[in-house]
Formats: sequence, C-alpha cells, structure tokens
Amino acid sequence: MSRTLGQNQTPGLVCAHNHFYSALARGMPAPPRTPTDFNEILELVWWRLDRALDLDTIEWSAKLAALTALEAGCTAVIDHHESPNAIEGSLSVIADACAEVGLRVNCTYGVTDRHGAEGAAAGLAENDRFLSEGGLGMVGLHAAFTCTDDTIAAAAELAERHDVGVHVHVAEGEVDDWQRLAGYTNDRWLLIHGVHLPDDHGLNGTIVHNPRSNMNNGVGYSRPWRFDQLIALGTDGIGSDMLDEFRMAFVKSREADVTLGPDLAWSWLETGWQLFPEARQDAVTWTYDVMDSWRLAYTTQVSPLEVEVNGEVVWADGASTRVDGEEIKAKAAEAAKRLWAKLADLD
Ligand SMILES: [Zn+2]
Repeated sequence: MSRTLGQNQTPGLVCAHNHFYSALARGMPAPPRTPTDFNEILELVWWRLDRALDLDTIEWSAKLAALTALEAGCTAVIDHHESPNAIEGSLSVIADACAEVGLRVNCTYGVTDRHGAEGAAAGLAENDRFLSEGGLGMVGLHAAFTCTDDTIAAAAELAERHDVGVHVHVAEGEVDDWQRLAGYTNDRWLLIHGVHLPDDHGLNGTIVHNPRSNMNNGVGYSRPWRFDQLIALGTDGIGSDMLDEFRMAFVKSREADVTLGPDLAWSWLETGWQLFPEARQDAVTWTYDVMDSWRLAYTTQVSPLEVEVNGEVVWADGASTRVDGEEIKAKAAEAAKRLWAKLADLD
C-alpha cells in the first residue's frame, strides 16, 4: 500500500540503472586520445576506469553516489557494478556504503568475458555470493557482445536459482549481438538501453531508457514508446537526479514527436516503483508545490526539503541526518585522486 502524500510530495524516486563506480570519474585525466565512437568510449574511458578500481575507491564512490541520490530525492537505485581487479566482496561494499547513508540499493556484478573465463567465473561467483548471503540484487551481465554463450547461459541459470532477473546492457551501440540473449529472458530481466533493438525484438523484461547517457555517447535514440513492454528510467552513472532525467526524457521524446506529453516520460519514472516497490513506502517533500508532470516538465531546480526512507528522515535542511556529508565528499575527493593516479599507471 502506498501512503497518502500531499501535492508537494512523491514517493522516493527510483533510478532503474546506474553505475555508482563512476561517481569518482568526474575530473579524471583525459583518455590517451579522444574516442571517436561508442566502442572507443568504452575502451578508452570506462574499461580503463573499472580496471583501476579497488574496494576502497568502490566504497567512497558508493557513499558519494548514495548521498547525491538522496539529495535529489531518489531513495532507491538499481546499480550495475564492474571492477575486474576487485571483484570478490565488491557488491557488499556497495550495499554497506548505501545502508550507512540510508539509500536503498539493488546490486549486481556485470559479468563479462573481457578478462577471460576466469574473470567471468569470478563475476558469477560474486553475484552468487551476494545473493546467497541475502543481499538485495540481481545477476548482472555486461552485454552479450562481451560474453560467451556459456556465460550468458550460466548467468540466466544463476538468476533462476536465486529467483531474480538478469540486469544487462542491450543494443546500446550498433555492435551488440543481443540476439544471443533470446530464449533466456523473462519479465524479471532489465534490458538496459535497447537503442538499436527492432520493434519486434522478442526479448522479455523491462527496457530501461537512459536518455542523457545515450545522447552523451552519441549512440542514437531508442524511441522507447515503440516497445510493447514496460519502460523505466535510469541515469547510467550520471548522478541519480530522476526529475532531471525525466525532463531530459520528455524533451528528447518531444523532439522526435511534438504531440507527446510529459505524462509518457513520467510513466517511465513511475515504472521504477514496480521494479523497486519498497520506494513507494518512502516520502519526499519537495520545494515545489504541485508535483505534476506538466508543471515539472518545465520547472527546473526542484529539490527535496525532506526525504524519508523506511520511516526515517534521512535528509533534511539540505543535509544528511545520518552521516557527515562534507566528510564523505572530502574523503571521496581523496579517493578520486588515488583512483586517477592508478589510472595514469595503466597501459
Ligand atoms: Zn550502463
């Protein structure tokens, strides 16, 4: 049951796809050369950053990301994590960091064969360990194009065993043989992006649309309303400000079809409550009087006065009630410097 909320309140907003490990990326050294397409963005930026992560930088990135999520009225995040040189225990580090700050998180490790069969096995084992110990999560795959058939089958089987879905990037860029996921998917799966999926792709699950990320990576536009399945909204690592992402989703849809109203993009935001029902129990009191999609589509800088998670006020008067936000920001900045130094040492 949802609680009764005032016009200036909403339940906790949900980010249906994020990468908390990228929170320390802002300000990082430029890649060795300017990437010219999406695959080079992966190779020269993200697949270097993830190799430089250790459990310490994962912890501070998660605390910083959790703090900024609550600051934006987002109380529940579905995270997708990869740290090939610090796999074991990484999901618990993220979950514990979020619990300390007071954010709900659903964790997954993005399994991939980019680091060989051993790397894939370690990723599967981390998902299995975390879920077996009672962690809230899913089984993660990076994307079909970096996974063998055996790894895809093993992830699907592991998800079935734990009664959860698989969280996987699908057809984000043009290079992805997503067809290899067919036969495994079900309604619990999260299919991230789907930019280059045909209308009749045949995959089951919720498609998570990340409009700002898609624009930033120049991968194209998914026109998500063409799909006959649930659509949710994520940020793909660019913060957790879901009102901002909603406005981005709205204007992007409007650019493609000027007859579309903001109720469509708002419905994608609302799907988050089906994916993460606990957030319905949370309450955010906003600086704006009427939290209506038409008004919010054209109103910027709406922020929370108070955020309540699971009956506890975790954010009030511009600050966390649980942790010292300034200390987290300072320690995250120090951790970022360590991360960037490791990054500079990579080949
Ligand atoms: Zn992503």
